[in-house]
Amino acid sequence: MDGASIMTSRPCLYCGDTSRKKTKEHVLQNSFGGSMTLAEDVCTDCNSVVFDGLDDEFVRYAKSIFDPNMRRRMLRENLTLSFDPGWGAWYALRLDNSLAPIVCPQIAIASVFTDPIDVRFSFDKVMDSDPERTFDTIVAELCAPSAIKLEFDVRHMEANDPPLHPIVVRTAHKTYLAVAGNDDEVQTLRELISDGKLGSGLRAMPREQPREAFVERPRVVGVVRRDFEKIERAIVKTAINYVCKVAGPTAARAPEFEAMRQYALHGGASLGCVTNVYGTTASSRSSAAGELCLTKEHALMLSSNADGLSVVLLCFAGQDFCAVTLGHTKHIPAGTLIITVFDPERRTHDVIDFASPRCVWDFVNARKLRGLSSRSDG
Ligand SMILES: [Zn+2]
Repeated sequence: MDGASIMTSRPCLYCGDTSRKKTKEHVLQNSFGGSMTLAEDVCTDCNSVVFDGLDDEFVRYAKSIFDPNMRRRMLRENLTLSFDPGWGAWYALRLDNSLAPIVCPQIAIASVFTDPIDVRFSFDKVMDSDPERTFDTIVAELCAPSAIKLEFDVRHMEANDPPLHPIVVRTAHKTYLAVAGNDDEVQTLRELISDGKLGSGLRAMPREQPREAFVERPRVVGVVRRDFEKIERAIVKTAINYVCKVAGPTAARAPEFEAMRQYALHGGASLGCVTNVYGTTASSRSSAAGELCLTKEHALMLSSNADGLSVVLLCFAGQDFCAVTLGHTKHIPAGTLIITVFDPERRTHDVIDFASPRCVWDFVNARKLRGLSSRSDG
């Protein structure tokens, strides 16, 4: 496109600085095997001081979902159950369509009637600015029998995982995971709910309690600490980086994207431009990018529809993960479709610009030479 040759020594894409050195900024995070970089667009301060922390948080979160080495089970279509050996606890976490986190902490039923349960809910500022008030709300919800729905639909645990019967406890506002060891405990759970006592045994732990205190007690509530603002900023940054790489630096610097660049750099109120598509009904239809990936590959896709509405999609392990709605700019023509497939093992990537049939053929032929076809290894 038009941008690449215009600016020779251009200001930092994010902070606008012209004095500091530029450093190699990975378009897709290095930890994902991202081999595509911006060499002339991001200054040392933005790259190292600001973005490193965002990327760490994002990678940690995404890998907890996609890393095949993580033990996890799909609890439901849209709920991932994870066992964290460090905490000795199960927890479930998912995002809703607008990237708002839904944390599903465990409730160890065996303890409900023998001892008050020690519960630690750890909320970041995106979730709740007042953990104590949230705790009170949780207790109130769990003591309201009419508001609680139970679902028993998961028994597929691996041999090495700790025994448990996960039960989804739904209230009007939250989803909890109840953990019962046997049918008697399940019955106890039902009685506690009908008596309005499920929440009455809960008490909050002091926030300064060391983590070790929890690890000693198996089947205690899991601690989930995620900074979703950082995750969202890292995602927005990745989208802008990708625009810079494949649509050119002028497009990435378009005034229409100023709010997004500032959000990536400074944070603040969410722009609402990131949509979670993993674990939602939308993901049952894979995007073109997801379809091109082998199951170990990641992809970025820039597309612009007939009206010129541009979106960047992030795919991990061949599955659509989230979409960043960029909006309209004249620098990204309607009908644009550029997909980059990253191979984390070989640390290579292929850029496929669908405006160039040659480009598509090259990708297909390179795959054939390597004995690969899309989705064939799944
Ligand atoms: Zn900068």
